[in-house]
Amino acid sequence: MSVLAVREHHRFEAAGRPFVYLVPSAAIFALDETADDIMRTLGNGARSLAELVAELSARHDAGQLGETVSELARVQAIGELAARPASPKVLPLTPFPLTTMVLNVTNQCNLSCTYCYEYGEDKIVDTENGRKPKFMSEETARESVDFMLKESGTNQVAHLTFFGGETLLNFPVLKKTIAYAKERAAALGKDVDFSLTTNATLLKPDVIEFLVEHQVGVTISIDGPKEMQDKFRVFQNGTGSYDIVAPRIKQLLKQHRRRPVGARVTLTSDTLDITRIFRHLTDEIGFWEVGFAPVTTSPGRAHAISEQGYDRMLDGFRALSYEFLEAAVAGRHHGFSNVKETLQEIHKGMSKAFPCGAGLGLMGVATDGDVALCHRFAGSDAHKLGTVRDGIDRVAQQAFLEKHHLDNKTDCSTCWARPVCSGGCYHEAHTRYGDTAQANLHYCEWIRAWTHLCLEIYGELAERNPAFLAAFDSEPAEPVN
Ligand code: SF4
Ligand code: SF4
Repeated sequence: MSVLAVREHHRFEAAGRPFVYLVPSAAIFALDETADDIMRTLGNGARSLAELVAELSARHDAGQLGETVSELARVQAIGELAARPASPKVLPLTPFPLTTMVLNVTNQCNLSCTYCYEYGEDKIVDTENGRKPKFMSEETARESVDFMLKESGTNQVAHLTFFGGETLLNFPVLKKTIAYAKERAAALGKDVDFSLTTNATLLKPDVIEFLVEHQVGVTISIDGPKEMQDKFRVFQNGTGSYDIVAPRIKQLLKQHRRRPVGARVTLTSDTLDITRIFRHLTDEIGFWEVGFAPVTTSPGRAHAISEQGYDRMLDGFRALSYEFLEAAVAGRHHGFSNVKETLQEIHKGMSKAFPCGAGLGLMGVATDGDVALCHRFAGSDAHKLGTVRDGIDRVAQQAFLEKHHLDNKTDCSTCWARPVCSGGCYHEAHTRYGDTAQANLHYCEWIRAWTHLCLEIYGELAERNPAFLAAFDSEPAEPVN
């Protein structure tokens, strides 16, 4: 006689009803009373169908029980105990088209943000001893564009993101690169979508005009109101940057109306008042969206976020997520991008074998044209995956993918949040453990609590405004942080 068991799942409640997140498929199902009772009963131990029906028939009709068991088996929420499948390791087929190229046009910066991963103990790239050029040349930028268009394969659109250092320190090359990319893409019948990240100190009138004219998407690194921005985001002489950047950002927001401008906030132990930061950046400055990321640093640093700090961060994220939910139900915009991005991944049923697109659809290019996992590794010889002249080193790429596949992160194999997390950012792992292949076990509790919260928000939206979630079907997702 066959014995039934529950498959790996995570239970949550939303809109007053139970749901399950099925871990192997990353699918979500709302449970009715009968399904919930079956899941709970089998969750207490495997049983034969006859035993299950005998146990539950006092509360549920036998026909209804049979139908629900079949339905749960069909979606693989339950299954035969003996038939528990071992999931095979699936590696993406290579060559895999490049969707986003992040071009580090300079590794110089006019700010000296105390927590920056480009400097101090956490630094990966040798910019000080002259081994890498400080600025990308026009020629290398052109070669990078050719590389991107070639490696984008049959994709109609290639995404080119300019990054630094402070990106706008190399504005002349950025301008020429955009002109060249447009010309080359047009010749090939393709489009290029341009974006950049900047600290906003150099957003002068001519720069703003150019960004508006060429519809360049802009993300601004900013940490919040003056007292928070000036704590870490300082010039070399220690002066805070808020008074310089705030009016420039406001001017950009006034003129750049065709593409939403986003803010990207680095959270530290000293700057965790998330609601205040969000209100300032949206209501007072006028950003369309704000995304937060905890500082990447080794644990001993004063600005590193402690366990209590992560709890505070979660409280702040929770408050904004509930606001986001109510806005989404009412059909209003809310600019908390962290929840939006995670909801999008959940909606798409993403079950990630890799935490992000680094080394796959996303690559970073260093000032000398070396190609690396992503922008944060650009210029690091240890994380090199080719050059823009010679193309992607497919052997190195395959070896990277083999080594970093989720199946090799044994700590993650029993974690229900792995379809969303997949071990976390390689750069964070490198900084924390000196090894990109290590799972980021220091923030598991936070990731699981955050994913659980996002599942609840997802369930609420599924019940109260499913059209909001359906709109994700037409939007792409690609993290650059
Ligand atoms: S790093 Fe932690 S939270 Fe992320 S998948 Fe692994 S065990 Fe789960
Ligand atoms: S998540 Fe980390 S490894 Fe991935 S692209 Fe972002 S910074 Fe790079």
